[in-house]
Amino acid sequence: MKTAAYAALTAKASLAPYTIDRREPGPHEISIDILYCGVCHSDLHQVCDEWGGAIFPMVPGHEIVGKVAKIGAGVSKYNVGDSVGVGCFVDSCRECEQCKMGEEQYCEQGMTPTYNGYEHGTQVPTYGGYSTRITVHEDYVLRIPESIPLDRAAPLLCAGITTYSPLRHYGLKAGDRLGVVGLGGLGHMAVKFSRALSAEVTVLSTSEAKREAAMQLGAHAFTVVRDKAAFKALSKRFDFIIDTVSAPHDYNLYLSLLRTDGTMVLLGIPERPAPVAAGALIMQRRKLGGSLIGGIRETQEMLDFCAEHGIASDIELIDAGYINDAYERMLKGDVHYRFVIDIATLKKAG
Ligand code: NAP
Ligand code: ZN
Ligand code: ZN
Repeated sequence: MKTAAYAALTAKASLAPYTIDRREPGPHEISIDILYCGVCHSDLHQVCDEWGGAIFPMVPGHEIVGKVAKIGAGVSKYNVGDSVGVGCFVDSCRECEQCKMGEEQYCEQGMTPTYNGYEHGTQVPTYGGYSTRITVHEDYVLRIPESIPLDRAAPLLCAGITTYSPLRHYGLKAGDRLGVVGLGGLGHMAVKFSRALSAEVTVLSTSEAKREAAMQLGAHAFTVVRDKAAFKALSKRFDFIIDTVSAPHDYNLYLSLLRTDGTMVLLGIPERPAPVAAGALIMQRRKLGGSLIGGIRETQEMLDFCAEHGIASDIELIDAGYINDAYERMLKGDVHYRFVIDIATLKKAG
C-alpha cells in the first residue's frame, strides 16, 4: 500500500515528503489510518543521530492515533472504525521473562521500535507515524477511550506512559513532594499524573515564561533553576524527582534536592553522558534510577486512568509542513506542551 509520509533522508536533514510501502494486514494484524501523530524529542534526537546507529531514510513518529481501516481474518480485539493508538514499539519476542510479565519495552531480545529499527528478525526497516497509515499486530495496539479527544490522546502513547510508569513503579504516594525537571512534553504529563495521584508538585524549569502555565497545569510551585542559589534554596526538599531534560546537565545539582532516601528517576536521554558524584548519592542514601516508556498492559491502564481523571495532553496542532520549524522550537524549549501533526495535512502534501 503506497503511503504518504515525511522522512529525513540522512542524519540532520530537514524532513520532506516521502512515499513508503505498508504491508496489507496479516491474519492478526491491523491497518490503521493515522489521524494524529505527536512529536517527541526522541524524534529529534534520532533524526540527528545523537544516539548513534540511526537508520535512514527515517520516518519518525511513535505517538500514533487513528482509526482501524482493515483487519486480518484472525483479529479478535479490534473492529474496523475503532479508535486506536500505537506507541514506541510494534513487536517483541513474546517469550522472554520481560515480555511474559508485560514489560515488552525491556524485551531481552530487544523490542521492535516503531521506527528506526527493523521488523522482528528481518532487515526490513520500520517507519513511524509521520505517515498516513501503519500495519501493526493487534497485540501491540492500544484502545483509545472515547472520552479523550484523539489529537490530545496521541502524546499519551509516549510522553504519557513514560511519565506514568515510573510514578507507579517507584511508588509515588499521596502527599509526597515531587520535583519535575523540565516542562516540555514529558514534564507536563508528569505534572498532570502526579497531581492526580495527590502529590505536592514543584516544576523546576529553566524558562521563567512557563511559570503561569505550570500553575495552570496543576503544579503547587514553580522554580527557575538557573543558578546555584536556586538549588540551595530547595536543598533536601523532595521525596522524588522526575528528570525529563533532553540536553546535558549536572545531575548532582538535582540530586542535592532529594531528602534522605529520596529517588531521582532519569527519563531524558541527552546525547552525552554526565558524571555523577558518589557523594551526591551516599550522603543521604539517595537513589538514582531510570525508566523506559512502559509495557502494553500498563499503557492501556494509563489511557484508562486518563479517561477516568479527565487527563489529556496540552497540544499545539500543526500541519505536516511545519515539522522542521517545530523541531527548531523544540530545541529552544518553546513547546506548549506537545506538537501534534494533523495527518490530514500530510495527505494533501503527499
Ligand atoms: P521537550 O518537550 O523538548 O522537553 C524537554 C524540556 O527540557 C524542555 O522543554 C526544557 O524545559 C528542558 N530543557 C531543555 N534543555 C535544557 C537544558 N539545557 N537545561 C535544563 N533544561 C532543559 O522533550 P520531551 O519530548 O519531553 O523529551 C524529554 C527527553 O526525554 C528527551 O531526551 C527524550 O528523548 C526523552 N524521552 C525518554 C523516554 C523514555 O522512555 N525514558 C521517552 C520519551 C522521551 P524547561 O524550559 O522547563 O527548562
Ligand atoms: Zn517518545
Ligand atoms: Zn521478549
